[in-house]
Amino acid sequence: MFARFLEGKTAVVTGSNSGIGLGIAVELARSGADLVLNSFTDNDDDHALAASLAAEHGVTARYIRADMSKGDDCRALILAAGRCDILVNNAGIQHVAPIPEFPAEKWDAIIAINLSSAFHTTAVALPMMREAGWGRVINVASAHGLTASPFKSAYVAAKHGIVGFTKVTGLETATDPITCNAICPGYVLTPIIEKQIPDQMKTHNMSREEVIAKVMLQRQPSGQFATVEQVGGTVVYLCSPAADQVTGTTISVDGGWTAL
Ligand code: NAD
Repeated sequence: MFARFLEGKTAVVTGSNSGIGLGIAVELARSGADLVLNSFTDNDDDHALAASLAAEHGVTARYIRADMSKGDDCRALILAAGRCDILVNNAGIQHVAPIPEFPAEKWDAIIAINLSSAFHTTAVALPMMREAGWGRVINVASAHGLTASPFKSAYVAAKHGIVGFTKVTGLETATDPITCNAICPGYVLTPIIEKQIPDQMKTHNMSREEVIAKVMLQRQPSGQFATVEQVGGTVVYLCSPAADQVTGTTISVDGGWTAL
């Protein structure tokens, strides 16, 4: 989208060995940013992914294991990165169940990974950004950060929470050369969504195609999934000078979902 205007900047993207996080990392690398990729796993594929992105885009890329459900790991990730000009808090998990049957440990894990991790990483990254004289914090929320669905209590609570945390971060950095915004994607066909399809097929007694059209995309007026490239492009825009005065707010990439 923009020429390599992010050369010399380091982007830390949590949960970036698949799906939206990986799509964001690719778009940032295309714009010249060096990458720190992350997830809770630590295998050869994770390190090979970083090496292949580095070779393809002419940037440096490292993979650092850190479990975003643990505050100490979140803080250690940013410290190990050594530099963090762009922080993308993307790691997230889902669980779908009615409130009385919602496992308490799933609630705790969803709040920890989807919400509290952003507090821990941001707390360590902001002083680094102030020192460097520039910074971008981008939180991957969801259309569920602005609306609700039954059976997604923890996810909706965490995503609404991160929208609030984004506003506070934007206010606390308003006079710094730092911005903080949240992106609210609608449905994007990534592993987190793929995993829900078999359950939805059982619940609704529908085929895969019917679940996609009548359950998922029924809420998305465009009738299409958003893509990881479109979410990544929005992150790149938020890192661009055009977005210098965009802070403390949300950008929806949801095919019109939240306009309904
Ligand atoms: P995904 O399952 O493909 O990716 C999730 C990423 O988070 C993976 O890289 C996974 O390894 C990582 N992760 C999970 N637990 C972790 C942990 N404990 N520590 C570190 N990393 C961990 O799903 P996705 O769709 O790419 O989701 C990415 C983000 O986008 C999430 O925050 C999700 O809520 C949000 N989102 C997704 C959609 C969608 O339709 N796919 C819509 C709105 C928002």
